[in-house]
Amino acid sequence: MGSVGAKEVPVLLSPDGKRIDGRRLDELRPLKIVAGALHQADGSAFVEWGANKVMAAVYGPREVHPRHLQQNNKAIVQCKYNMAAFSVDERKRPGLDRRSQEISKVISEAFESVIFVEEYPRTSIDIYIEVLQANAGTRCAGVVAASVALADAGIPMVDLLPSVAVGKIGGAIALDLKKEEDNFGEADMPMALVPQSGRLVLLQMEGHMTAEELGRSLDLGVQGCRSIYEVMKQALRDRYQVGGGAAQEVGA
Ligand code: ADP
Repeated sequence: MGSVGAKEVPVLLSPDGKRIDGRRLDELRPLKIVAGALHQADGSAFVEWGANKVMAAVYGPREVHPRHLQQNNKAIVQCKYNMAAFSVDERKRPGLDRRSQEISKVISEAFESVIFVEEYPRTSIDIYIEVLQANAGTRCAGVVAASVALADAGIPMVDLLPSVAVGKIGGAIALDLKKEEDNFGEADMPMALVPQSGRLVLLQMEGHMTAEELGRSLDLGVQGCRSIYEVMKQALRDRYQVGGGAAQEVGA
């Protein structure tokens, strides 16, 4: 442990380039996806990614509530991201806060740009993301889960949306930050990729990096998204080939 002021800061990178959990800089945490994990929703998916546990449920296209949000020429996409009170170390105050509103908004916009919304005018496609256990990167885990849930619901999209955060820890660019890396690192940049076109539909950034580091981060993130994409597709194949329920894993 090093120290900055009164705060104890963990050493995020060992001299041989290993991270606190033994990962290489370009290594994802273990990722497991179950498509169709819930019976009531039109589509659903459960994602375990490192210590994150995230459930997504999708309904629609269905009637718009509240009614005045209805659009005559397209479906609206409404995402609700929520962290359970028991999802973090200290109990999180339940309910809407600015952070979950922001995350719900950026995820809604990301999906609105890949769903064929013009095919379902005057309807709503509702995405619920429930974070049951959080360990950084929950918005990315939410996008991955929602994406598989949307496909499970049969909603036509340009493509699935793999998502991951890249960051800077101990001066190095690293893929898929875990909690300590997110808290004590220098930067955190979540992104979501349309794999077929290479288009980014979600890109946020907290912290500082140079332009050169930003370029390397984007490359590393795209590479990470492509690995995640394979796990997502396999989860859907398993659901529809063998009656569902089989989990897909990477890096376990
Ligand atoms: P993301 O989960 O997408 O990385 P943030 O960067 O905002 O989003 O949060 C990083 C992590 O910090 C979360 O995954 C969670 O582990 C923790 N965290 C976020 N909000 C809270 C909160 N209100 N109370 C405790 N921990 C939180």
